[in-house]
Amino acid sequence: MNAGMKALLMENLKTLKLSAMKRDLESCLRQARQEKLDYDEFLLNLTEIEVITRKENSYKRRLDEAKFPLLKPLETFDFGASPGLDARLIKELSGCEYVQKSRNVIFLGKSGTGKTHMATGLGIEACKSGIRTRFVTGCGLANELIEARDEKVLGRVIKRYAGYGLLVIDELGYVPFSKEGAQLIFQVLAERHERKSVIITTNMGFGDWTQIFGDANMTAALLDRVTHKAKVINCIWESYRLKETLKKSSK
Ligand code: ADP
Ligand code: MG
Repeated sequence: MNAGMKALLMENLKTLKLSAMKRDLESCLRQARQEKLDYDEFLLNLTEIEVITRKENSYKRRLDEAKFPLLKPLETFDFGASPGLDARLIKELSGCEYVQKSRNVIFLGKSGTGKTHMATGLGIEACKSGIRTRFVTGCGLANELIEARDEKVLGRVIKRYAGYGLLVIDELGYVPFSKEGAQLIFQVLAERHERKSVIITTNMGFGDWTQIFGDANMTAALLDRVTHKAKVINCIWESYRLKETLKKSSK
C-alpha cells in the first residue's frame, strides 16, 4: 500500500471513528504480509480489535460510573467459606438474566457474611455485560436525595436513578432513614419497580423493615414490590471476618 492510500485509509478510519482499527492498522498490515493472510482474514483481525477495544472501554466506563467502594469480584469469593450458600444461584445470577427480566436480589444477614462482596461481584458482572450499574449505600442514597430536593434538582436525580439497569443499595437499615429520606427512597424504588433491577443488602429481616422506613403502610407497599419475584439469599453462616480473626488467633 503506498503512502497516499494509507493516508486516505487513516483519514477514513478517523472519520468513521474506528480509532482502534486506525491505531493497529500498521501492525495488522505487517502481520498480514508476514503471515500471507487473505483479505478476509486481515479484515477480520482488524475489526476484531475494534470490537474488543470498545467492549473494554465500555466496561471501564461502566465500572467508573458504578462507583464501587471496593472492586471485589466474584472470583475472589470463596464459596466454601459460606456454608449453606447456593453457589449455583450466585453463578446463575452472574449471567445477569435477572437484570434482563427486571428482577431483584436481596441479601439478608449478619455483618461480615459477604453480602457487600457478593453484591459488588454481581455489580461487576453487570458492568461486564454492558449494563449501566450504580452502587450506593442506603444512607448515601437517602442523603443524596434529600440534598437534591433541597437544591430543587430532585426530579433530575430520581430520573438518573431510574435509568440504571442495576442499582445496588448496600446496607439498607444500618441507619434508619428520616421520614423524608424514607419517602424519597420509596420513590426511587417505585420508579424502578418491574422496569429495572435492584440488589439490596441488609442486616434486617423483612419483619423489621418498618424500623428502617418508619411508616408501616409504606413499608408494606415497598416490601410487596421489592420482594415480588425476587431472589432472597439468607446469609445464615458465621461472619467471614470473625472466622479469619479466630483462625489467626488460634495459630
Ligand atoms: P457484609 O457486607 O455481609 O457485612 P462483607 O461482604 O463486607 O460482609 O464481607 C466482609 C469481609 O469478608 C470482606 O472483606 C469480604 O471480602 C470478606 N468475605 C466475606 N465472605 C467471603 C468469602 N466467602 N470469600 C472471600 N471473602 C469473603
Ligand atoms: Mg456490607
